Amino acid sequence: MLQFVRARKAVVSNASMWDTLSLLPPEAVPKSYQDGIETTQQCESFMHLHLGFDAEGISDDLGIHHIVVNDWDRGVDADQNVVLISVPSVLSPDLAPPGKHVLHAYTPGTEPFEIWEGLDRRSNEYKNLKAERSEVMWKAVEKALGPGFNREKCEVKLVGTPLTHQRFLRRNRGTYGPAILAGKGTFPGHSTPIPQLMCCGDSTFPGIGVPAVAASGAIVANSLVSVTEHSRLLDAIGI
Ligand SMILES: Cc1cc2nc3c(=O)[nH]c(=O)nc-3n(C[C@H](O)[C@H](O)[C@H](O)COP(=O)(O)OP(=O)(O)OC[C@H]3O[C@@H](n4cnc5c(N)ncnc54)[C@H](O)[C@@H]3O)c2cc1C
Repeated sequence: MLQFVRARKAVVSNASMWDTLSLLPPEAVPKSYQDGIETTQQCESFMHLHLGFDAEGISDDLGIHHIVVNDWDRGVDADQNVVLISVPSVLSPDLAPPGKHVLHAYTPGTEPFEIWEGLDRRSNEYKNLKAERSEVMWKAVEKALGPGFNREKCEVKLVGTPLTHQRFLRRNRGTYGPAILAGKGTFPGHSTPIPQLMCCGDSTFPGIGVPAVAASGAIVANSLVSVTEHSRLLDAIGI
């Protein structure tokens, strides 16, 4: 059902530049703006592995975060080379049932979308590719957690792919964000050629990452609200 929400001051989008573009009526978008977005290089996507398993046999002094680099010569942005692992139940046992751990492993923005593009998520081809491309994460988890970890005994096993990333995070091609290199380019500003449409988030200055996107939201808020109004709001919330 189509719904209209009317805004008096502005519309602010923190969807990626490609996802924001897809929401705009083409006739409202100047060609140069569209071309700028369509020619911006994208970072690659992700593989994810989410696990739930019994803590028995796992070392009591297991660290929460682990990084496994398979081959330093290939570089940290090579595909299937770096796996980041977090076991948050190490610090917050209430995140899992008593005596269990939860674990998230992922390949950080290094999984090419191309090899997944167009696959039917119910097909055997997709399932086989999932098994093949998740193996690097399983091996990294085995290395980080030691011989007490047994993949066969995991009670929860969920593998996410670039298609998962695209679907559930609603990010074009499951991308990590624009591939704009520090020193070679700058992230776009927050205003757009469409009157009263502003953007924040990881497609805008200062860039990708939680602190950066929070800053971009603050910049947009600053642009829309006067300093006097800021002070009034800060007083109201007691800061
Ligand atoms: C696995 C992983 C690990 C990371 N680790 C770190 C880290 O350790 N430190 C760090 O600083 N950063 C990290 N990042 C990066 C950081 O999470 C992102 O840069 C940041 O969350 C991006 O925020 P955003 O608001 O720009 O975009 P998003 O968080 O993608 O928000 C955009 C929102 O727009 C919504 N949306 C899209 N289309 C529509 C629509 N049509 N209608 C309504 N809503 C829509 C989406 O659902 C989404 O909720 C990590 C990212 C990933 C994927």
